[in-house]
Amino acid sequence: MTISENLKHIQATLPKHVTLVAVSKTKPVSDLMEAYKTGQRIFGENKIQEMVEKHETMPKDIQWHMIGHVQRNKVKYMAEFVNLIHGVDNVKLLNEIDKQAKKHDRIIDCLLQIKIASEDSKFGMTPSDAEAILKSEAFSALKNIRVTGLMGMATFTEDENQVKAEFSSLKSVFESLKHIENENCKLQTISMGMSGDYQLAIACGSTMIRVGSSIFGVR
Ligand SMILES: *Cc1c(COP(=O)(O)O)cnc(C)c1O
Repeated sequence: MTISENLKHIQATLPKHVTLVAVSKTKPVSDLMEAYKTGQRIFGENKIQEMVEKHETMPKDIQWHMIGHVQRNKVKYMAEFVNLIHGVDNVKLLNEIDKQAKKHDRIIDCLLQIKIASEDSKFGMTPSDAEAILKSEAFSALKNIRVTGLMGMATFTEDENQVKAEFSSLKSVFESLKHIENENCKLQTISMGMSGDYQLAIACGSTMIRVGSSIFGVR
């Protein structure tokens, strides 16, 4: 199937409350443009440099999501245009995003990444770290970021029960934190689910899925 057909097929099966991020990392601009012409406007990349280059050459009504692990010293390259940073997993990074957003007179939306997988390789903070940050005075003092939700990645395993348990744990962390509401924090988004597990993620409460290979083919 073509990129356009893949995209239409996935879009047709999604409930209205679920946002599709087309994960286009490593793919050429021509592939992204095919998705764009099919109506896709949200693209996810995991390397800042690659996202910057694609942003420069592509139409300006695209929303760019940074879904990968972010190095603090590279935030400045995307601060002017990035729409959502999914993988915020420490306070220093949050402070840097705030600082760089301020230079461009913007407010940048962020998701806190929670570690739900049992694998050591996956990044993320604990639910109590997230709670402590969201309730801290230092966080309230920031003026140029907004935490709009949580993000998580399940363990890479065939064991559907384990994946389901991990997704469900992110949903319950979300439920336990969503009462925290202030100028910098309004939790609305649960970013979980990729090509192999997005249906399960949606069943467990996902509102934003990050799908790459099922749209663009294998990398
Ligand atoms: C690559 C990537 C995806 C998409 O993976 P697919 O299996 O190709 O759908 C989703 N989320 C993150 C964080 C990724 O790095």
